[in-house]
Amino acid sequence: MEIKKTILIVDDSEFVRNYHSYILEQAHYQVITAVDGNDGLEKLYTNPCDLVLTDINMSNMDGYEFIRRVRAEAQYSGLPIIIVSTESEAKNKMKGFDAGANLYIVKPSTPEMMVENIRMILPAN
Ligand SMILES: [Mg+2]
Repeated sequence: MEIKKTILIVDDSEFVRNYHSYILEQAHYQVITAVDGNDGLEKLYTNPCDLVLTDINMSNMDGYEFIRRVRAEAQYSGLPIIIVSTESEAKNKMKGFDAGANLYIVKPSTPEMMVENIRMILPAN
């Protein structure tokens, strides 16, 4: 039996959460969603996740702070984190990498590109 890898999607837009969930489920990943950084941390603490896709602009806790808090915990030092954001400027990307992101995808991205990027970081699925 195939064991599906689990991806946590953190985004304050219901449309984006649903859209990304659909794309990833089509690619045979198991998906968990969270509505902001706080919710993301809670979901991460209660579910084993193989990779995180996170937005930047979210109320309560934005993506940068979320990533910093994840990286502050030793058990998540190797967890792959991909930012998916409409912010396309270099300063945003640098801030994301400084926070601890592994990759930065600018929205809108094609489903194919998103899945390719995830496979690059999380092989064998
Ligand atoms: Mg947002």
